[in-house]
Amino acid sequence: MFARPQWLILLLVLIAGLVWWRVPADTQQLSRTALIMGTLVEIRAFGDDQQQLNQAISDAFAEMTRLEDLLSSHRPDSDVARLSSAEKTVKVSAETAKLLQLGQQVALRSGGAFDMTLGAVKQLWAIETDHPQIPTAEQLQTALHGIGPRALQIDGTQVTKSVPALQVDLGGIAKGYAVDRALAVLRRAGIRSAAVNAGGDIGLLGDRQGQPWRIGIQHPRNKGQLLTTLRLADRAVVTSGDYERFFERDGVRYHHIFDPHSGQPARRSQSVTVVAADAASADALATAAFVLGPRAGLKLLEDWPAVEGLLVAADGTVYQTSGLQRSD
Ligand code: ADP
Ligand code: MG
Repeated sequence: MFARPQWLILLLVLIAGLVWWRVPADTQQLSRTALIMGTLVEIRAFGDDQQQLNQAISDAFAEMTRLEDLLSSHRPDSDVARLSSAEKTVKVSAETAKLLQLGQQVALRSGGAFDMTLGAVKQLWAIETDHPQIPTAEQLQTALHGIGPRALQIDGTQVTKSVPALQVDLGGIAKGYAVDRALAVLRRAGIRSAAVNAGGDIGLLGDRQGQPWRIGIQHPRNKGQLLTTLRLADRAVVTSGDYERFFERDGVRYHHIFDPHSGQPARRSQSVTVVAADAASADALATAAFVLGPRAGLKLLEDWPAVEGLLVAADGTVYQTSGLQRSD
């Protein structure tokens, strides 16, 4: 009966209607970049009005810059810098206190693999500067004095340090938190589809025009090669690796994620990717699992509610949590 032209026309109209219905009306897209927290941040957003998108992205960047001022150890007035230079107790903003609480939870649950009190260790290695160096055992011992998951006592907005010399560093969690806040600003502006990428800390708002976002996970050793692709919506996906910020001496790679037990770059992993509801948790968990390595790291991610992950061990073996959906 489909040979009869009126049926054919009806069918074509139906198909056209379905196709029209599938393509959302708001097809404007805007992508901008900015340098924040020492990282190139890209925000891509979809909406129905270029001007609205532009304003929302500007506001999201401004929010991330506000957090850099609050959380960077390089800003003398930041909560983190004030905490580091204090003798003992400092009052911080409620926002900083909340982030410290989250970091401390990851620190405790990871047996101290995640540690926000490694500031002195980080300064010694100076990996992210033009003059990185290998510290002596003695220097490291001094820098590790007093650190650990209980080195900061958080009581409301009062934070007390274990020892006066303790240096706080939120490099393992602040970028993720800033990504979460950028997404919150975009959401508040009425945007329903956006991606924020802060150098591998990615936050996704909604999906990408009716389809999941496709997030390629970089191979930690073969530049330009993907390990896998994840299809995600409304999720954060964060990767910590030893391949972006490092220096080599006598054939040894020294990178920026430290094992708090030794003060040396952590040696059990090449990269860890964590998928979670928020980027702050994913950021801290990726750093923690990186330090722990395949066994304990995978267990940390399996045990954490609503979190999945992928870990490349030091020998290149790829491990993943049981619920991770890969599409490769
Ligand atoms: P990236 O900054 O490259 O995204 P991470 O999220 O893993 O990578 O953070 C690494 C940063 O975290 C370091 O530059 C340092 O500031 C801090 N850091 C290093 N080792 C640890 C650790 N064991 N626990 C918490 N933070 C750490
Ligand atoms: Mg991290």
